[in-house]
This record gives sequence, C-alpha cells and structure tokens, in this order.
Amino acid sequence: MAKVVIVGAGPTGAALALLLAQRGIDVTLVEAARNFRRTFRGEGLMPSGLAALDQMGLLGLVETVPHQALTAWEYLLEGRRMFQAPEPFQSGTLPCTLVSQPALLEALVEQARRHPQFKWISGTAVNALLREGNRISGVQLADGRTLNADLVIGADGRNSLVRQQASLEMKTLSHSIDLLWFKLADSSCLPPENIFYAIVHGRQTMGLFRSAEGSLQLAWALHDDDPTDWKNTDWPQKIAAASPTWLAQHLLKHAQEIERPLLLSVVVGRCPQWSVPGLLILGDAAHPMSPIRAQGINMALRDVIVAANHLVPLLQNAVNPDVLDQVLPQVQAEREPEIIRAQTLQNEELAQGDRLRHSPLLRAIVKSTLPLSGPMIRTSWLRRQRQLRQGVTEVRLQV
Ligand SMILES: Cc1cc2nc3c(=O)[nH]c(=O)nc-3n(C[C@H](O)[C@H](O)[C@H](O)COP(=O)(O)OP(=O)(O)OC[C@H]3O[C@@H](n4cnc5c(N)ncnc54)[C@H](O)[C@@H]3O)c2cc1C
Repeated sequence: MAKVVIVGAGPTGAALALLLAQRGIDVTLVEAARNFRRTFRGEGLMPSGLAALDQMGLLGLVETVPHQALTAWEYLLEGRRMFQAPEPFQSGTLPCTLVSQPALLEALVEQARRHPQFKWISGTAVNALLREGNRISGVQLADGRTLNADLVIGADGRNSLVRQQASLEMKTLSHSIDLLWFKLADSSCLPPENIFYAIVHGRQTMGLFRSAEGSLQLAWALHDDDPTDWKNTDWPQKIAAASPTWLAQHLLKHAQEIERPLLLSVVVGRCPQWSVPGLLILGDAAHPMSPIRAQGINMALRDVIVAANHLVPLLQNAVNPDVLDQVLPQVQAEREPEIIRAQTLQNEELAQGDRLRHSPLLRAIVKSTLPLSGPMIRTSWLRRQRQLRQGVTEVRLQV
C-alpha cells in the first residue's frame, strides 16, 4: 500500500488528505500549528470553490460551520456609489459565501480521522525532506521523528519550506501589496444584507464586509507608494476620513474598541515547476494567490480534485515510483492555465483600481459622469468576474 505524507493542513492539505483517506490510501497530514484559529485565514468561497466542495460531497459541511452568503458587491468612489451588482449575478450558481476557514478545516480533519488509514500530526512542523538517491522519500519533523513516504505533497502555503528544500523556484509576480486587517463590531448603520464594499478615496482603497462569524472585517491596502507609518497612525480617524458618512460615524463611535490591525503581506507568484521525483507541491505552495476576488481557497480545492484524479488510481495499487513521478507533471500541466488566467484577472482588478487611485482627473471625470460611467464600469467589471467566479477550465472529480 502506498504511503503519502501531506505537509500543511490548509484548504489544500486538509481536503486532499480527506479524499485520499476516503479512497483507502495511507495518508499522514502534518500541520505546524496546534490550533487552526491562531493564524489569519481567508474566508471567501466563490461558486467554483463551492462547486469543488460539492463534487467532493462536502458542501453540506459549509452548513455546519459559521458562514454568510454575500448578497451584493458595491463600489464607492469618494463617498458616492459607482455601481452595485447583486450576488449571485449569474442564475443557477451559488452565491459567493464567507465560510469560517478554521471551522471548515477542523471539520475536514474530523471527517478524515474517521478513516483508519489517516494519521494526524498537529503542532509539529516539517523541517526537512528525506532523500533516497535523487528521489524524495519522506520528511523529518521538528521533534526529530521521520516519516517515510512514496509521495510527499507540499501544501504548506506561500512560504513553503517544502518548496525551498526541494529547490523549486518561485517567481514572484510584481505588484505585491500589504493589507491591514481590522475587526470591527457589526453596525446597524449597515443594511442587514451582506454587501461587499470596495471603497476608493483619493489614493486610498479598502474593502469592507461582514465576516462568516458576523463581525465586520475591514481590509486597508498599504500600497508601495503609501508612506504611512502604520504602527503610529490614528486608524479610526484615518479610515473615517476615507469612508462614506455611515461608516465614518460607526468608526468614530467605536474608536476605542478597534484593535490594532493585523499586517498581512500579500505574496503573488508561480513556480515554473511543481514537482521533483517523489514530491508535488500544490495550492499556495505552488502558486500563491492574491486575496483579490477570493481566489486562493477555490484554486486550492480545484488543485486537489485534479491531483486526486491523477494520483488515486496509482496510489491504490502497488506503487511504481517511476510511473508515479511521470504523472506528477501532469497535475501542473492541467492546473497551470487556470492559475495563470486567475492571476491575470486579479492583476487587472488591481490595475483598474490603480488607474483611479493615481489620477485625480479620472476620479473627477468618473464622479461627475456617474449616471453614464457607473454602468460602463459595471459592465466591464461583470465581464471580468465570470471566470473569477466559475473558474476557467473544466474540473471534475473522477475517482
Ligand atoms: C490577506 C489575505 C486574504 C485572503 N482571503 C482569501 C479569501 O477570502 N478567499 C480565498 O479563496 N483566498 C483568500 N486568500 C488566499 C488564501 O488564503 C490562500 O490561497 C489559501 O489559503 C491557500 O491554501 P493552502 O492550503 O495552499 O495554504 P495555506 O492556507 O497557507 O495553508 C498552509 C498550511 O501549512 C502549514 N504549514 C506551513 N509550514 C509548515 C511546515 N513546515 N510544516 C507543517 N505545516 C506547515 C500552515 O500552518 C498552514 O496551516 C487570502 C490571502 C491573503 C494573504
């Protein structure tokens, strides 16, 4: 029987471990964190991600964990509405839904633990790869234990140690941004529906939405050209100055309760090569995604389906390492076109915002012609969303 070790229990690792365990494959999932709640984890699942969960028979899990469907997207320019688009805006699709990722990961691991072939090691990081000849043959844990494997999957996120130890290069794409992540009390000044607000004010941009757990989340973009000393900034005042009146009032009323924000560095990139003999990297380890239009979890879940299609038939039988190693690049070949397209579209979203940010003249023109410019911007925005919501390629679980 084949042995698989998966490093990292984010969406990629947890979902793949469950699929393999369900199919009778001996799989060990190693997670560095003791607790899923300690680190920041994104929440937005697009219809493509929900469809991936559905194919895995896991859509019902979403109902058992905190979640909130979005009802609309609204873009505001200096306090004025540019446009609103309902969610979902394509009939027959599920709406983009905010799902508590820690709770979802706990539920995935819980399901996997029902299978005797599944082993769960948490609170211990992998700190080295083992090799036999030119093949990866397992991992070493920080506590000194070693785990042998016919296949190691690196699902350890954007700063992947597995990727580095396997000498797999990652090409960082330009235009990285940092985000300051604020948690705010919910407010009756917001409509009861869950609208995602994208706000542009001068050179400043932010996003606001109600999280899966019900609090308000505000993401403030720290652009390369922004000299803000974020640790010494009066944030309630600064955000209020860039907010529409209803949000400014809420921020100033609750200024004392606003906690120091979390600084999240956004890394966007792709590895030219996702595998070496005995090892495959998936999810953010292979292609760290920007948070724009919530793509990362969705792409991770779709990587998992494609990987399972290729690997399960081989792993269910006596393993021939040469045959296994020849199949690994096929996973990359099938997934890469969609990843490239999604990252390109995310970049276009960013560029559209940047055009407004950088040009006071453009902002003035858009604002003064909103009855005309608003619908035009909405049409071009909607066109771009189709693939960001539905995915680009056909991904279907076949095993
Ligand atoms: C600010 C921000 C907001 C985002 N919001 C969203 C969103 O709303 N929707 C969305 O779809 N995407 C979002 N993303 C992207 C998304 O979070 C990632 O694309 C997605 O989590 C990738 O999943 P993954 O399982 O590949 O990696 P990760 O989620 O990063 O999981 C990797 C796991 O590996 C573990 N690990 C790391 N090193 C080791 C080691 N050496 N040994 C053992 N374990 C290890 C980590 O603890 C972690 O649990 C956001 C990203 C950012 C930066």
